Amino acid sequence: MQYFKRIVDLHKYLSQARSNGLTIGFAPTMGALHAGHMSLIHDSKLENDITICSIFVNPTQFNDPADLEKYPRTVAEDLDLLYDHACDVVFVPTVLEIYPPDGISSPDFDFEGLTDVMEGAFRPGHFAGVAQVVYRLLNIVRPDRLYMGQKDYQQWTIIHRMLEQLQLPIDLVMVTTVREPDGLAMSSRNRRLDPDIRMQAPVLYQALSEILEALMEGNKDYRALENNAKEKILAAGLEPEYVQIADGYTLQPAHPAKPSKRLVVCVAAWAGEVRLIDNLFLDQ
Ligand code: AMP
Repeated sequence: MQYFKRIVDLHKYLSQARSNGLTIGFAPTMGALHAGHMSLIHDSKLENDITICSIFVNPTQFNDPADLEKYPRTVAEDLDLLYDHACDVVFVPTVLEIYPPDGISSPDFDFEGLTDVMEGAFRPGHFAGVAQVVYRLLNIVRPDRLYMGQKDYQQWTIIHRMLEQLQLPIDLVMVTTVREPDGLAMSSRNRRLDPDIRMQAPVLYQALSEILEALMEGNKDYRALENNAKEKILAAGLEPEYVQIADGYTLQPAHPAKPSKRLVVCVAAWAGEVRLIDNLFLDQ
């Protein structure tokens, strides 16, 4: 496995690969890697000649400095895991490498309301930071395919819009959420959960699954379904921030009068001091 810290060295390696006609798949991460991340690596390996994973805890997407400070950093274990999964290249840049003092400008994107709701509403500035770092990483790596998880559905949708606006020839692949056996979506943050609250955390997946079942049965009382789910989550000892049934493309709250080709049900909740998100979607 090739390991790069500096853009200049990565560039040399990738331009050689490109001149040999090899295709490049890219999975950007913030480290503290788990089986969910490995699923991105797995899919990329199936579809590309070279798979590159970046590990970079991006300071600009944290609206809460305490969250940034507590974000788990486990680079040595991450490298072992990537090696075990035969990842070809790992890129672990410093903050200065990504954000040099002389500045790197990124375009003003128009996300047309995608960033105003859910995560965007509860974490002001978060998606501006995500767009900034993904734009920078894409300029560095210039992959053929970009792999991102369904777990961050809103993020995926926003990056999809960004690629459309930039008219970049990059395929964005959505990788299905990998879950623990009890349904909890795998997340780097799970390792910070207290054992008691960890036991209760699968309530998020249960609440989402119940809503999905109701939607499949034709229930269109969206706001009542959201409220019931919030109560269920509260009763389990977690604190919901939002449960939202939204249009899967515009991410605006779904309305029975406005049929959607895809409905997505998103949740964010505090499990003790750890904020968790999850979602399920239904194509109809
Ligand atoms: P993160 O390191 O949390 O920024 O995540 C890096 C990438 O891995 C993002 O595209 C996430 O959506 C994806 N990811 C995180 N958790 C999972 C999971 N449980 N299943 C699939 N993909 C995931």
